[in-house]
Amino acid sequence: MKTYQIALVPGDGIGKEVVPAGRKVLETLAHTTDSFQFEFEAFDWGGDYYRKHGLMMPANGLDALRGKDAILFGSAGDPDIPDHITLWGLRLKICQGLDQYANVRPTRILPGIDGPLKRCRPEDLNWVIVRENTEGEYSGVGGRMHQGHSIEVATDLSLMTRAGVERILRYAFRLAQSRPRKLLTVITKSNAQRHAMVMWDEIAAQIAAGFPDVTWDKELVDAATARMVNRPASLDTIVATNLHADILSDLAAALAGSLGIAPTANINPERVYPSMFEPIHGSAFDIMGKGLANPIGTFWSVVLLLEHLGEMAAARRVMQAIEHVAANPRLHTRDLGGNATTNEVTEAVCAEIAATTRNSLAQA
Ligand code: NAD
Ligand code: MN
Repeated sequence: MKTYQIALVPGDGIGKEVVPAGRKVLETLAHTTDSFQFEFEAFDWGGDYYRKHGLMMPANGLDALRGKDAILFGSAGDPDIPDHITLWGLRLKICQGLDQYANVRPTRILPGIDGPLKRCRPEDLNWVIVRENTEGEYSGVGGRMHQGHSIEVATDLSLMTRAGVERILRYAFRLAQSRPRKLLTVITKSNAQRHAMVMWDEIAAQIAAGFPDVTWDKELVDAATARMVNRPASLDTIVATNLHADILSDLAAALAGSLGIAPTANINPERVYPSMFEPIHGSAFDIMGKGLANPIGTFWSVVLLLEHLGEMAAARRVMQAIEHVAANPRLHTRDLGGNATTNEVTEAVCAEIAATTRNSLAQA
């Protein structure tokens, strides 16, 4: 029997509610099979840790993660600590420190979920957004001076390296190639941002030459938002910069029904370091501690985690359980217009995983 070492980093806010729910799903799954099990190590990093130690995670915290097979993450963000401290001190530290340069965000409308687009059939919206995850607008280069004076100045430098752009575009072309439609849209803003974004366009054309079976096109990011709303079926795999894809993927999640459903994989494709899986949403201050958080985004992230470990059959079973539960309006949380609690949805998904195992064993 294989044993996977999983790090749990719930972080803050509803992260503390949805990560334990994700652990339950993994434990339920492990109980149904003899082929693998999980060993969990939980890390209490985040806002509370910061209040005690002045840091979001220990300075050598990455060392504790390096040997893991995967990381399940919740959210970084505390109502009493500035967002740039919580984000940079925890999530970006892990993503950049473990070189998880491909942030992958599948979006589709699950059965039973009513998206906001009137003319969009569920089959019209089936996207994967690939977000550059280590540089660009989030390179952290910049500074402030003359603080508090009338001549105050501040800069945030967006840094794009050829190596960084090549590797994310290559990842996106490969991913597009693996999907049935073999369709990639490269999103930039190369009309206004006339240096790095022009380099993106050039590199895209160079990488595309190695993928003759992939159909690809370019779109400016502002036009891309309208295209997502008006012609969702014209998109399949999408690649964009750190900031652009951050924004586009919240839009994508909302178009697919709720921010509470959408998953993320932060992938180190070379597998030198562990990859990290997390719901796309944040700490959700307005609902934290109330048992109202939708755990589906975390469960779908668990599916991505299992796929990354190569446990494809297990991943499919969890996805089927998610779809089964999503199809039942009585099991919808408030963000989907229902009354179900985090626990009720979690119990239902776990029960479905257990039930499908019993059925498949009975048939065997
Ligand atoms: P948010 O995602 O926390 O919340 C936006 C809205 O969506 C809120 O109304 C919230 O209630 C709702 N929502 C989000 N997830 C939900 C779920 N699972 N179920 C039901 N409703 C859900 O975004 P925000 O308000 O911009 O940010 C709050 C904090 O989280 C900030 O500190 C921010 O920096 C942080 N944040 C962290 C991450 C991360 O760590 N990956 C991502 C986004 C935001
Ligand atoms: Mn975001």
